[in-house]
Amino acid sequence: MKKKIEDRRWKIENGPYTFRGRGIKDRESETEGTRARIDQKMKRFWFLYGLSLLGCIAILWLVLNDTSIQDARGNDTKCEVHHVPLKEDVVPIVYGMIRRTGEESQARHSLFPNAYSTYEAGCVVEKPQKARVRYCPLCREAEKEWEDNTKRRK
Ligand SMILES: [Zn+2]
Repeated sequence: MKKKIEDRRWKIENGPYTFRGRGIKDRESETEGTRARIDQKMKRFWFLYGLSLLGCIAILWLVLNDTSIQDARGNDTKCEVHHVPLKEDVVPIVYGMIRRTGEESQARHSLFPNAYSTYEAGCVVEKPQKARVRYCPLCREAEKEWEDNTKRRK
């Protein structure tokens, strides 16, 4: 209690506390000291900030790169439509129901069955975002042509 009263009196006589609560006399040098300390604090802040940012980027990178690739290669080695050897490719997986017109389904089935520009993995969403497939280059060409024609008709 007594200390509080003394404290208040000190404040009235000397003005508000400087950084360490010393008097006016020390204020000049004190400001420099404070500035240096703030500088140091800021340096530490930026260091930690940079470190955590780097950490976030590293985690994101790991998550994005760790998505495993599903092996969706069939047993076929030749395209039954174009009779050319199939090639391997890694393509994005599409999850969910894909609604297609009868015409498109028919075209996919009979004109370019091995296009595999994407891999349709069904409704259950799982971790892999990419799949390794065997595709026919001529099927892809046919698919592209068919899609272009369909777009043009619309
Ligand atoms: Zn083909």
